[in-house]
Amino acid sequence: MTAAMAENAIFSFTCLGISVTMQCPLRCRHCITRSGPEITRQMSEDEALHYIRSARHAVDHIGFTGGEPLLDQARLLRLIEAAKAERYVVSVMTSGHWGARPDHAKEIIGRMKAAGLDMLGVSLDRYHLDFIDVSRCCNIAEAADEHGIPLAVRVIAEPGDDFAEQVKALLAHTKASVHSHFPVRLGRAETLAAAAFRHSMTPPADSCETVTALDIEPGGKVYACCGPGPYMHGGNPLALGNALEEDLFAIIQKALANPFMKVINTRGPKGLLDDLHAHGHARIVPLRAYYTDTCQLCLDICNNPQAVAVLREIYADPETQRTQNAMQFAKMVGEFLEIRRFRQDTGDRHAS
Ligand code: SF4
Ligand code: SF4
Repeated sequence: MTAAMAENAIFSFTCLGISVTMQCPLRCRHCITRSGPEITRQMSEDEALHYIRSARHAVDHIGFTGGEPLLDQARLLRLIEAAKAERYVVSVMTSGHWGARPDHAKEIIGRMKAAGLDMLGVSLDRYHLDFIDVSRCCNIAEAADEHGIPLAVRVIAEPGDDFAEQVKALLAHTKASVHSHFPVRLGRAETLAAAAFRHSMTPPADSCETVTALDIEPGGKVYACCGPGPYMHGGNPLALGNALEEDLFAIIQKALANPFMKVINTRGPKGLLDDLHAHGHARIVPLRAYYTDTCQLCLDICNNPQAVAVLREIYADPETQRTQNAMQFAKMVGEFLEIRRFRQDTGDRHAS
C-alpha cells in the first residue's frame, strides 16, 4: 500500500438499495421493515428516477427493494430500464410472491431481463411459508436459469433450524445460490420468541458486510445499511442524510470517509466499543445482559450521542484514520485473493 492510499479514504460501496415501496403482500413475523399489505408508503417514480440519476458516479450497482418492488411491475420495469440506461449493474430483491406458475415466473423474469436486470434475489424463510409455499421459489429459480439470470436466495433461519439446507436441496437442480442468516431483533421480529435468536453473553464480534450496502427509503433518508435504518435516531453516524434536501452524490461521497462505517466493516460494532474502552470511556455504553445480533450493539453505540461524540474525537486523529484505511485496504485485498482462489479452484475443477 502506498502512503497516498493510506492517506485517502478507500471505503467503497457494494450497492445502493432503493426501497421503492414499503408495501408487501406478505406480512412476515420477522420483517424488520414492518412491511405488509396495509402499508401505503412508497416512492414516486420521479423520486426513484432522481436517485438513479444523482448516484451515477458514486455507485455502480442499484438494487430495487422494499417491501415488495414487484407490486407495481410496470413501474419497476421502467426503473430497471432507467438504471440500465445509466449503465448500473441492476438487481431486484423480492419475496417471490409472483412465482406461483412456472410460465408466469418465466414471463416476468424475461421482461425484467429485457429491461436490463442483471441479478435477482429472493427471500425465503419459514416465516414466508405462512403466506406462500416453496414451489414459487423453485419456479423462479428454474425461470432464472432459463433466462441466464443469477439468482441468490436469502434464508433467515433460527439457530438449529436446517431450513437453509432444505432450500439448498430443493434448488440443487438449479444454479441458485442459497445464503443463510439469523434473524435480527428489530421491527416485527421483536415479537418473536427468544429461541428465534442467537444469544451471546458478550458483545458480538462479527464484522458487518451490510454496512457497504447503502439504502434509500421513500422520502429520501439515506442509511449506511439496508434494514435497520429506521431504528437509527438523529445523530446516528450511519444515518447519512436526506437526498431530497442534499445531493445524493454528495451524501455518498461524504460517506466514503465515514470512520464509523470503516470500523463496522472491518472490526464490527465491537470495534467501536473497543475504541471507547481503549480511550477510557468504557462506561458510556451500558452492556446488555445478552445480545441476539450485531445490530443491537451497533444501534446501542451509534444511537448514543455521547459515545458518538467521543468516537468522532478519537477518529479525527490522522494516524487513526491511516490505520482504519490500512485495515480496510487489507480486507479488500483479502477478499480479492479469496475470489481469485475461488475462481482458480472452480476453473481447475471445470478443466479436469
Ligand atoms: S420480510 Fe420481506 S417478504 Fe416478508 S413482509 Fe417483510 S418485506 Fe415482505
Ligand atoms: S451492524 Fe450496524 S451497520 Fe451493520 S446492518 Fe446492523 S445496524 Fe447496519
